[in-house]
Amino acid sequence: MNITDIIKQKQGTAFSFEVLPPLKGTGTDKLFRTVEELSEFSPRYINITTHRSEYVYHEVEGGLLQRQRIRRRPGTIAIAAAIQHKFNVPVVPHIVASGNTREDLEYMLLDLQFLDISDLLVLRGDKAKEDSTFRPTGDGPRYATELIEQINRFNEGFFHDGTPIKVPGEKFHYGVACYPEKHEEAPNMESDLAVLKQKVDMGAEYAVTQLFYDNRKYFEFVQRARALGIEVPIIPGIKPLAKLSQLSIVPKTFHCDLPEALYREAVKCKTDEEVKQVGIEWATEQCRELMRNGAPSLHFYTVSAVESIKQIARNIY
Ligand code: FAD
Repeated sequence: MNITDIIKQKQGTAFSFEVLPPLKGTGTDKLFRTVEELSEFSPRYINITTHRSEYVYHEVEGGLLQRQRIRRRPGTIAIAAAIQHKFNVPVVPHIVASGNTREDLEYMLLDLQFLDISDLLVLRGDKAKEDSTFRPTGDGPRYATELIEQINRFNEGFFHDGTPIKVPGEKFHYGVACYPEKHEEAPNMESDLAVLKQKVDMGAEYAVTQLFYDNRKYFEFVQRARALGIEVPIIPGIKPLAKLSQLSIVPKTFHCDLPEALYREAVKCKTDEEVKQVGIEWATEQCRELMRNGAPSLHFYTVSAVESIKQIARNIY
């Protein structure tokens, strides 16, 4: 059963969440604990992010800098398989164009098939930290649409060089990302929505939103998407505020506004614990309103927020 079937089948609003693979060398204990704790709320599926490699600089003798390529969070596919196996819950690994050639991506698709994983979130991925704009790697896709094209060809039984796959496996189902407050690089909302329409027309079965704190922006976005003929579920992404530092980091990183009412409450807080309580109350009300208005599912971003999500889920489910 793929993710859209799972969402449609569930009475009421489904619960799902996203985790990051562990930092390199830190093992799986903390991640598995997160999954275990949130299992209390019967997640319908779990997403696993993907992180490209990056360059870091170390000072060596003589004050020279040595460049080193590292991947801080490797292992998305293996972690997805481990979660599926250990917790018997559908997994949705993110597959990103960023940092990958078409051949790299093809090997990932083969690995995923071997592991019986057929649901993906298809993304262009973040640019490399050292670049000012996104650059494809070798012949790798420039946009999510180009990666979708490759996956569709694979589903039809062809490798990227056009050779037929002798024994094609199960077809991949996939969702894509969307941005109620516009993707940072998109010149305007119309063009960004046109990209979403293209992704859906090519086969995306649902879209998951970038996190947001102002439900009006989500409702307006869904309305505009529907007016363009985008009929797939648009799943809201929720990240409760949990730290004082997030008041500036979240808008900068995720290109979303904090509504004035939320900001006014949060800025009064003296400690992270106080902000966390404000975040829980805000996200609880946000989720309740989304549920009342028929949101198909609520998708939670867990970084720094596991305790908050548990509290919110207890409040709303
Ligand atoms: P695209 O849909 O390709 O869009 C990228 C930009 O290009 C947009 O501005 C779009 O309007 C424009 N565009 C697209 N196609 C065209 C075209 N043909 N011509 C001109 N312009 C075009 N990043 C990660 O690295 N790893 C993750 O695991 C990850 N998970 C995410 C999960 C969710 C739910 C979301 C919302 C984001 C996630 N991201 C992740 C971040 C995402 O990769 C970045 O936001 C990235 O910059 C854009 O990815 P995309 O798939 O939306 O790209």
